[in-house]
Amino acid sequence: MRPEILNPLFATVEVLPGVGPRIAKTIEQCAGPLVVDLLWHLPSGLIDRSFSPSIAEAPPGVVVTLKVKVDSHHKPAVRRLPYKVRCSDESGELTLIFFHAHEKYLLESLPIDEIRVISGRTERYGDDIQMAHPDHIVSESEIESVQGTESIYPLTAGLNLKPLTKAIRAALGRAPDMPEWCDTPYLKQQGWPSWKEALLTAHKPESEVDLEPSSLTRQRLAYDELLANQMALALLRASMQRISGREIHGDGKLRDAIRARLPFTLTSGQEAAINEITADLARPHRMLRLLQGDVGSGKTMVALFALLVAVEAGSQAALMAPTELLARQHYATLEKLLADSGVTITLLTGRGKKSERAAVMARLAEGQIDIAIGTHALFQNDVAFSDLAVAVVDEQHRFGVQQRMTLADKGKGVDVLVMTATPIPRTLMLTAYGDLQSSRLNEKPAGRAAIVTRVLPISRLNEVVDGIGRAVDSGARVYWVCPLVEQSEAIDLAAVEERHAQLLNIFGTRVGLVHGRMKSGEKDAAMSAFANGETDVLVATTVIEVGIDVSEATVMVVEHAERFGLAQLHQLRGRVGRSDKAGNCLLLYAPALGKTARARLEIMRETDDGFRIAEEDLKLRGAGELLGTRQSGMPQLRLADLAEHGDLLATARDDVKLIMERDPELQSERSQALRVLLYLFERDAAARYLRSA
Ligand code: ADP
Ligand code: MG
Repeated sequence: MRPEILNPLFATVEVLPGVGPRIAKTIEQCAGPLVVDLLWHLPSGLIDRSFSPSIAEAPPGVVVTLKVKVDSHHKPAVRRLPYKVRCSDESGELTLIFFHAHEKYLLESLPIDEIRVISGRTERYGDDIQMAHPDHIVSESEIESVQGTESIYPLTAGLNLKPLTKAIRAALGRAPDMPEWCDTPYLKQQGWPSWKEALLTAHKPESEVDLEPSSLTRQRLAYDELLANQMALALLRASMQRISGREIHGDGKLRDAIRARLPFTLTSGQEAAINEITADLARPHRMLRLLQGDVGSGKTMVALFALLVAVEAGSQAALMAPTELLARQHYATLEKLLADSGVTITLLTGRGKKSERAAVMARLAEGQIDIAIGTHALFQNDVAFSDLAVAVVDEQHRFGVQQRMTLADKGKGVDVLVMTATPIPRTLMLTAYGDLQSSRLNEKPAGRAAIVTRVLPISRLNEVVDGIGRAVDSGARVYWVCPLVEQSEAIDLAAVEERHAQLLNIFGTRVGLVHGRMKSGEKDAAMSAFANGETDVLVATTVIEVGIDVSEATVMVVEHAERFGLAQLHQLRGRVGRSDKAGNCLLLYAPALGKTARARLEIMRETDDGFRIAEEDLKLRGAGELLGTRQSGMPQLRLADLAEHGDLLATARDDVKLIMERDPELQSERSQALRVLLYLFERDAAARYLRSA
């Protein structure tokens, strides 16, 4: 149950004075439906109204607060002309201008012969000093309510600053004094205020500095959010680990045999990852580990060794790929390696004859198959394993670890390894998964030649085409990726078909085409023609991102590279340079480049390190914008900014680790405060794992 102290914050915004159904709707759009959402809606700027010159000294275009005497009202002869109110002080005269005026309202708020405080920007027309529609008109006694700084909030269509500010003030009025959930010595050391003080100050910035993520108040609030996030993840993890796993020890025979067959030696990164995984499998609790490594870093070998441990132990193992194509590719690779090893391996996808599928499923259920490779079809409800011990999920370019936990249902405490080619910045990993075990393959297998990346304007297309022609003549195979037009598959399609026709015209028949609208059979055919060398150039949309491994491909051309995200460009480039032949990547852009696009292309030219690229991507775009994060159930942070508050995140993680060690039952006074914190940030599911005191 949510602690009572929070109830005033968990009402809908309509309980606030001045918020009717119409305004409530607009507030919901820009902040959220609840009072608590308004607390998190922090100012994005401020207006300083403390400057109070005389009328004559007011600089045009600058916000000023003036004390004036109202002299006369002038109603226009026709409606479309403005209503004017003349005012003055000792220094001179000022004309207030109102279009579409309500005379009664103006006479009431600006009574003749009285002193009024007005705030806004002045303009000069010849000798005339004017102010159109002052932002504030108050009586002399209320001067303090205007003079000072005013917060500017992010708005949405149909919502003005005044009603929103009023609603936020009312919401702040409901904020209770909270028990302190931060560690007191840490709080002192940081010089942070209490939660309520931080909140009130954050909504009343005195200067631009107060709006910075590094200000004490913003830091405190960000820390609270990160602490709630880390606490929730730690609690979920603890509950998951209560479901016991199993110890899997292999005798190492199969692994030794396969190792002897490999045409290469494993990299030290591969060895380290394999050791980490084997150690995890041998432990009684369930494994949930992430294996991160760029395309081509050799994750499949690591997966194979994990699968073999299960087989050695007399159990079954499964490898799930995101697409049919990749499942087939994995199957082909592993089947070759496992030939005559005594290991039975099979492929199960959504396609093919029903009867064949049924036969495979029967053998799986009877335990006649050791390793099953497949697509998500592997984990449909009707698929039963006899004794599944290890599941490897090749996510390729998505983050889906949370959903993958459900794989565990297929066997008793199945150990799960998730592989991803999308390097996830450390900070993002932490907020999404907490201290999830992860292994990284940092180095490329030996013997890989470097990729040279060049960035060129599209005006040099002819040169590029000539160069490609020469490369093709000397036996190169080339990917040509066409522009990505957000949200318009039709335009993408037109562009890719046009480029295909043009290149076909220049190079003859050896140019293939593949795009997302093709039937999967056609796609496969085009990809295999390219893989077999029947075509030299493959014009494609981004479907090749999750595509077949053509190690002979050495050139990657990307048109309109400025429209792609860093992660995507990196994945595309990873398609070439997969052999000992030097690779080339040509990033073509259409001028003029924006600042972010320029920075992105510069980073691509500078580095090939996927982890560095991911960190830069985070800095350039912010966590919420990282490719795919929105759809993937990554937590959306409202107060913390991972690019700015990364060190606070690390502290929050360590803090939570200590709390869980010292007070696993969460009985202490501080733990009770943390319970309030979890509910405040709506981590109700996690909070339920706490014993209520
Ligand atoms: P990933 O799945 O990480 O993108 P793969 O596992 O498909 O990469 O490996 C890419 C290529 O590198 C494959 O052809 C594989 O046989 C090869 N490879 C894997 N490990 C090594 C190694 N240690 N030395 C040389 N080549 C390797
Ligand atoms: Mg792979």
